[in-house]
Amino acid sequence: MSPSSPAGSSSSSLPDSSALLALPDGPISANHADRTSYAISLIGGYPTFPLSTPPLSSDLVCASCSAPIPLLAQVYCPPEGGENDRTLYVFACPNGGCQRKEGSVRAWRASRRNDEYVADVEKMRAEKEAEEKRLADERRKNPFTMGAAQPAGSALFGGGGGGLFGANLFAAPASAPAQAQPVPELSNLSISSASTSTLSPPHPAYQPPQYLSTTDEYLPPPEEVDLDSDDDEQSPEEKAEWRDERFEQLFPSGVDPLFERFVKRISEADGAGGQVLRYDLGGVPLPYSTTSSLTQSLFPGLPAACRAQKAEDDDPSPSTFFKPSSSLVPPCPRCAAPRVFELQLVPSLINHLSPETLSTTGEKAPKKGKSAQSEEERKKELARLAGEEAGGEGMEWGSIVVFGCKGDCEGFEEEWVGVEWETTLA
Ligand SMILES: [Zn+2]
Ligand SMILES: [Zn+2]
Repeated sequence: MSPSSPAGSSSSSLPDSSALLALPDGPISANHADRTSYAISLIGGYPTFPLSTPPLSSDLVCASCSAPIPLLAQVYCPPEGGENDRTLYVFACPNGGCQRKEGSVRAWRASRRNDEYVADVEKMRAEKEAEEKRLADERRKNPFTMGAAQPAGSALFGGGGGGLFGANLFAAPASAPAQAQPVPELSNLSISSASTSTLSPPHPAYQPPQYLSTTDEYLPPPEEVDLDSDDDEQSPEEKAEWRDERFEQLFPSGVDPLFERFVKRISEADGAGGQVLRYDLGGVPLPYSTTSSLTQSLFPGLPAACRAQKAEDDDPSPSTFFKPSSSLVPPCPRCAAPRVFELQLVPSLINHLSPETLSTTGEKAPKKGKSAQSEEERKKELARLAGEEAGGEGMEWGSIVVFGCKGDCEGFEEEWVGVEWETTLA
């Protein structure tokens, strides 16, 4: 991610992004093997661990009410060029009384050495050495070929992020072809044959689990923002106007500037406005509001800089303020490596995990017919969908950030979670 916008750019120009965005991609059918794989990214359902026995249900609890907490997301994210499988698990307490309480959102990480990756890393290293040797020999033989076009093979290992795994962070190396896939799929992954275990009823779970698919974050330049919208009837000018009106409605004057940017950044991602999760190991999360204590801790000085901002074109860049202290985010207790930002859940995820789909049987909660659903329940559901419900049932977070071990040490470990609670546009 570029540290700041170029000078003179308008406030609506956005930085380059290294984030991968994840979108829900349909339910995983009952008894499908993907429901019991830790190498699949999903939302809802039960987590699968690269462990011979799963963590106890009594350990995966809300630190506020001590009730077992359902999985929000399992994210399979082996680091580029690494030697481990790595899966993150984020859980949250759905109880109304636990919203805004410390410890009601928790995350764990499982990392396990994957011999295929180890072999791949070694193979890459050997191939690179062989190629370097070959080039060196060639240069010795014929000094005049220096600077000529290099064989295609050497480009594989060139710098600049174009490496073998560069384009497909979530894919297992065994399935990652040398040609970059335009849209990496979380669901098409090779599964390790090593032992695994899946959490099971009566632990609560949102049913059915749903696949996540990923795409790179592409932020169109301002003039292109509306060209690719679904509605081709409108001219770009009309669309831009509509968009401005929509934001005007969403953000009456005086609304929190960071929240406005948070929403814009998400909705303007090309083809990924429906993102529920952002993955960017070692990157910078999107700050959610100037008033939250989390933003003030992760981005010291940013809220003040936003308040002091005079010209609209003068947006302070969050990445230059991003300095989480080690007292806020302690290092990994297993290996003492620092924890770095890894993933962020955004509130649209809540729409995909409605309280009505929570079940302790492992199956979809019985569908309530129109007659079975009382008028009161129906109203409540409508109010919830309209975002009008204050308090009561349902999650109220606005942004969840997870910081994970940079060293990717082997084992199963709780990771650091920061929560920004829902902001209301009162
Ligand atoms: Zn709770
Ligand atoms: Zn560690």
